[in-house]
Amino acid sequence: MPPNRTRPPNTNKQLSNRQSLVSNVAPKPATDMRIFSRKTRAAAPTRTALLVGGGWPGHQPWECLALFAASLEQRGYRIIRSDSLDVYTDRSLLSQVQVAVQSWTMGEITRQQADGLVRAVEGGMGLAGWHGGLGDAFRNSTRYQFLIGGQFVAHPGGIRRYEIHIEKTDDPITRGISDFSIRSEQYYMHVDPGVDVLATTVFTGKPYPWIAGCRMPVAWKRTWGKGRVFYCSVGHNLADFKRCDPLRRIVLRGILWAAGDLPPTPSGENH
Ligand SMILES: [Zn+2]
Repeated sequence: MPPNRTRPPNTNKQLSNRQSLVSNVAPKPATDMRIFSRKTRAAAPTRTALLVGGGWPGHQPWECLALFAASLEQRGYRIIRSDSLDVYTDRSLLSQVQVAVQSWTMGEITRQQADGLVRAVEGGMGLAGWHGGLGDAFRNSTRYQFLIGGQFVAHPGGIRRYEIHIEKTDDPITRGISDFSIRSEQYYMHVDPGVDVLATTVFTGKPYPWIAGCRMPVAWKRTWGKGRVFYCSVGHNLADFKRCDPLRRIVLRGILWAAGDLPPTPSGENH
């Protein structure tokens, strides 16, 4: 998202306060309160992933969330969806969640909602996301930005092809994945030096010559209290994930790592 873009109409205040707990991963949030239970599986799901979607629709939040929800379902996760940030104030619900996956570009978060999210992660809930859905959400909340470990400030040059370099080849999230390129937005971010950087990209200096050669984190992980946070700056829309297998694998592994569910051995390479 360009930093000067007009605020989208679909802000949190204009969304309903209800939470949507639904049984499928259709692009649009449903309105009922059913909790997912896969009929074809004998055992009840033991892990829960909370999907939180909203904000600027150009990033296709629910389409992208659905992609990863399908993979999580295959691994036996119960899926809960919410199109309201009020879900972050539901302490009881969050206590049952292993990982929250958020795609909510810009928008606003209240102090109470941000406090609830930070408290849940500090207590052990994982948090994962990509691009603007996690890294350009809630510009009004430095508390939230502190939690994520970085904040989008620009994507110089718009859509263009660039290289992504794997920095941690022995990490379970990036193990076995080689450097790759993608044609998408290259995020320039302000990054917390305390995060554990997994992958980077280098800027060419177009259209800003003074950033030529700047190596920027693309994917990172961090701990926050008892919780884990994973972020990847790539993933402008669903097409990015569909045409770029390494990107999709890194984000899925990051989600699983945040959930405390990524094997530390090479067997995790099947993700
Ligand atoms: Zn974008």
